[in-house]
Amino acid sequence: MGASLAKVYAQLDRRGEEAYIPAMAMLWVHCAGCKRRIPTGLEVDYETFQALTHTERTLECPLCDELQVWNLDDVDKSVFRKP
Ligand SMILES: [Zn+2]
Repeated sequence: MGASLAKVYAQLDRRGEEAYIPAMAMLWVHCAGCKRRIPTGLEVDYETFQALTHTERTLECPLCDELQVWNLDDVDKSVFRKP
């Protein structure tokens, strides 16, 4: 009986692990033209974000059409609620 209970708990643990999906978050930057927050179109989880190449990327602001050059330093990291 004890052994089968342990088996049930093992299965529960496995299910719990499978149910864990890292939170995806849209990366936002501040537009230099209109000073508003604009989505970069990149939606990643924290692990992927950390693995992203630190390079300059371009993005046209959907609000004022200003072409933005941004890199990972410009990203609003508050979307990742990391303890
Ligand atoms: Zn703008």
